[in-house]
Amino acid sequence: MYPQTHLLSGLAVGAVAQKLGYFSYSDTLILTSLTVLLDIDHYIYFVCKYKTLSFFKAWQAAVLKKEMGERTAIHHALGFLLFTIFFIGIFFIDHKWALILCLAYYIHILFDYLPNDSHRVKFSLLKLSFRLSYYEIILDGIFLSLIIALFFI
Ligand SMILES: [Zn+2]
Repeated sequence: MYPQTHLLSGLAVGAVAQKLGYFSYSDTLILTSLTVLLDIDHYIYFVCKYKTLSFFKAWQAAVLKKEMGERTAIHHALGFLLFTIFFIGIFFIDHKWALILCLAYYIHILFDYLPNDSHRVKFSLLKLSFRLSYYEIILDGIFLSLIIALFFI
């Protein structure tokens, strides 16, 4: 999924947790940030492979699907296992941090692995290419609607 979907999913879950009284504004902000930042491995892979810090080139490579190995262990079974063990350890130190970290990681992984192969809408924004599937656009709309609705409730 694209960063805006990770951002909106983290924000929506954080907003729900906030409405239920589990999260503060800063907890929601941290959850949302971490949900997006988990894709840093794509960028680090690109920087290491091509020896350039160009975010634009890394973005274009990821979007145009030229980089097949850019998902590191974070996005695979080994990362899933190690993060789960890490979260269990954090749980014994601080329940809230364990919850925030768990939600950020599992939300991100969930939306990365949901089927996302419907017809795509191609466009550029600020010179960055996007190829959003209808499915992802609808998902973004649902998250955005939920966030707006929770803001007014
Ligand atoms: Zn990802």
